[in-house]
Amino acid sequence: MQYVSTRAAASAAASSTQQFSDILLGGLAADGGLFLPTAYPQVTGDELNAWRDLSYADLAFQILKKFATDIPEADLRALTAKTYTKEVYKNTRAGEKASQITPLRVLEEHADGSKLVLQALSNGPTLAFKDMAMQLLGNLFEYALAKQDEQLNIFGATSGDTGSAAEYAMRGKKGVRVFMLSPHSKMSAFQTAQMFSLQDPNIFNIALEGVFDDAQDMVKAVSNDLEFKRRYKIGTVNSINWARVVAQVVYYFRGYLSATTSNEQKVSFTVPSGNFGNICAGHIARMMGLPIDKLVAATNENDVLDEFFRTGVYRVRKSAETYHTSSPSMDISKASNFERFIYDLVGRDGDRTRALFQKVETHGGFDLSGKPGSDGDEFKLVANYGFKSGKSTHADRLDTIRDVADDYGIVIDTHTADGIKVAREHIEPGVTMIVLETALAAKFNETILEALGQDAERPAGFENIEDLPQKFVVMPVDVEKLKQYIATNTGL
Ligand SMILES: *Cc1c(COP(=O)(O)O)cnc(C)c1O
Repeated sequence: MQYVSTRAAASAAASSTQQFSDILLGGLAADGGLFLPTAYPQVTGDELNAWRDLSYADLAFQILKKFATDIPEADLRALTAKTYTKEVYKNTRAGEKASQITPLRVLEEHADGSKLVLQALSNGPTLAFKDMAMQLLGNLFEYALAKQDEQLNIFGATSGDTGSAAEYAMRGKKGVRVFMLSPHSKMSAFQTAQMFSLQDPNIFNIALEGVFDDAQDMVKAVSNDLEFKRRYKIGTVNSINWARVVAQVVYYFRGYLSATTSNEQKVSFTVPSGNFGNICAGHIARMMGLPIDKLVAATNENDVLDEFFRTGVYRVRKSAETYHTSSPSMDISKASNFERFIYDLVGRDGDRTRALFQKVETHGGFDLSGKPGSDGDEFKLVANYGFKSGKSTHADRLDTIRDVADDYGIVIDTHTADGIKVAREHIEPGVTMIVLETALAAKFNETILEALGQDAERPAGFENIEDLPQKFVVMPVDVEKLKQYIATNTGL
């Protein structure tokens, strides 16, 4: 399996391809594009039938081996077996089996044959769906670095979910260190405790005396110093990482196969979306031949994606126009994985994709509506890819959290509430609608308290997490100090 950049010039595309292991540890392609397979591997009906009863780990192996053809199969099998265990994904709710890794729960069954189903993706160590991919990435990184006798220092900024998922994936892994910046005293007590209570010697929490934007500027400043990056082997694990996307493809197959008994049955997915990483994996599953009917992107008040799927206009927002909402992991003004879908939508034309995303930088967006003066008319093809969308607000979240608690006795988190609100607008006769549950309610307790007047239940082991000893350093917004800290602690 070869990979190509979404911005590769037609003349260079054939000669510039790379294998899975070449792109595993990196982020963007050298030309600023994102990697995709030169063609999506296809699954047959027989394969789907054979996969229906596999364990999650075995299913992950079957799917991954189609993408990571340069990793020996026995190694890949060992990596998936080590990752997808009931010990890692143990934070289940009553009635869920941890061994299923992403258990389904039917919420509604209607006379017209439609159903509303929740697929739990947040039973991992940090109680959010990012663990689904990040835990595999930790094992893949350790494996690849050992093979090359190399080291990697992961450096990033977080305001919550990504940073903690990365730290829990990389803790104790050989050859990897994590340096994570977060705004000092700005995260919730729960999120802070989750990250700072890690005592592993390869995890470095840096509490910055500033806001999240300062932290991101520091990351940019360090990343722009190419010599420093090379010397100290600095890398990232952001949501454009290809291995993360592939790992996410697996749970669409798991969801479909668990919800059906034959491949004639129709299933749609609604996905609480921000950076378009999660739903991009659904798009890839569909392109591989998984019989997904609709892929519904649910946004919060930050509705960049909903706007595109309603109008064909992609208009990114400035930070001042980005709202801080009660589903904060979707407060995204520019969807970093969206370019992967646009590349497919414009017929895998790298020159066209490059021009469109250069226009995002220069003009803040592009328009594929086909109206006079637009940049193209491919919006009319979007339906062929199954995409739909909808938007949810703070008031919708509160209503949905209350409804679901009243009707089914379960407490959902704010992001999942956005998903359920939008899913209900897209339920069709005869089709099962699966909503991806992207976090557990305990992570966003403030809003649960507002909606229900009581605290969200915490999974076992998290009861007194705020009381655990914390390990972190406080640092001023000073790039030189930061570089010094990294240099000293890498020992390179
Ligand atoms: C990251 C995240 C999302 C958004 O996922 P994308 O891949 O960025 O679209 C939604 N919900 C939660 C809880 C998240 O952590």
